Amino acid sequence: MLSVDEALARVLQAVRVKGRETIHLVRAHGRVLAEDLVARRSQPPLAVSAMDGYAVRAADADRPGAVLRLVGEVPAGRTFHRQLQAGEAVRIFTGAPLPAGADAILIQEHARAEGDRVVVEKPVARGRFVRPEGLDFVAGWVGLRAGSRLDGRLLGLAAAMGHAWLRVRQRPRVALLSTGDELVLPGELPSGSRIIASNAVSLAAFVEAWGGEVIDLGIARDDPADLAHHLTDARGIDFLVTTGGASVGSYDLVQQTARSLGLQLEFWKIAMRPGKPMLFGRLGETIFLGLPGNPVSSAICAIVFLRAALRAAQGLAPELPLKEARLAADLAANDERQDFLRAQFLAAEGGERWVRPATLQDSSMLATFAHADALIVRPAFDPPRRAGEQVRIVELQEVLAA
Ligand code: AMP
Ligand code: MG
Repeated sequence: MLSVDEALARVLQAVRVKGRETIHLVRAHGRVLAEDLVARRSQPPLAVSAMDGYAVRAADADRPGAVLRLVGEVPAGRTFHRQLQAGEAVRIFTGAPLPAGADAILIQEHARAEGDRVVVEKPVARGRFVRPEGLDFVAGWVGLRAGSRLDGRLLGLAAAMGHAWLRVRQRPRVALLSTGDELVLPGELPSGSRIIASNAVSLAAFVEAWGGEVIDLGIARDDPADLAHHLTDARGIDFLVTTGGASVGSYDLVQQTARSLGLQLEFWKIAMRPGKPMLFGRLGETIFLGLPGNPVSSAICAIVFLRAALRAAQGLAPELPLKEARLAADLAANDERQDFLRAQFLAAEGGERWVRPATLQDSSMLATFAHADALIVRPAFDPPRRAGEQVRIVELQEVLAA
């Protein structure tokens, strides 16, 4: 059996970085920037007021009781067109440009207006409450680097820098296909031994969060003709992800049917738990991941392999972010398979994070997985571990978000 690391390296080797496209920034949330972004303007474009008050010459307002002549007003977006003379003040509001000659803002809390006169209550120092031109950023600054994933903050910055259209990586397209005679679509309440197909629901959400675009191919029955028909629907799509039918049962038809359609199998079976029977290959130009049917297996295989592949396809670092935590229970020696144990955080003690593995780790147990905080990642042949020892973990919220 292939180790998880070897399998992951093989998957990543097959991934090509997607091409670029130009899109409007209101549609660019979560996308990856394909080129550096340079500020087309400075912010603020001129020296502006940081407060509501009076634009003054600090030398005229250097003592309580000084009296200034109010000669006009400048709100944000306007300009005061004449030079401020000695003893003059201009009513000014946050974001408005400083009149020429003014060098400080006397905030309104420190002044008293009396008709066309302004009485200084608290003196003001030169430069006070003035935002100089380019305080935030200057034209020509490389504000965003190629390879950044765009969140709301970066998009706001791109807009402020003067960009409305952005060059980004195309989203990798991912076809999801569930397989099994026992499956019904969510919305139906099945009778007898049938169950609701939940895998594709989780996977679709993961794929979206990882920057991919989902094409839902529905459910294929455990029938070679029906399966072949559904598999063919993924032609031209970057990734095809199936769940179920990947092991050695006589109804596990995925590999056999995909082979008949020209599957070039790269590997099948990985030394991991859960997820051992995952298969990986190419079907034409499409990268094919055949995930096991058990919900926890398919989800963890997706977290380990599909997440890495989708990130690589967008030029992002594919590694799982591993962290350390302290074990809250003993663990027996591990066998030849790398283990991903569902676990919960305990209340933090002395700033240290403690994790408790769930007592039952059956790969069908979606409830345990859904309420887990972390996966404890145990190498193959890890010796027995005692409570209190350090282990490596993956935080689920983190890896499911990006
Ligand atoms: P299989 O690999 O097809 O033998 O499936 C393994 C287990 O996963 C079986 O108990 C299936 O019923 C279950 N399973 C397969 N596909 C799904 C799915 N889409 N949603 C939930 N459970 C599934
Ligand atoms: Mg099945």
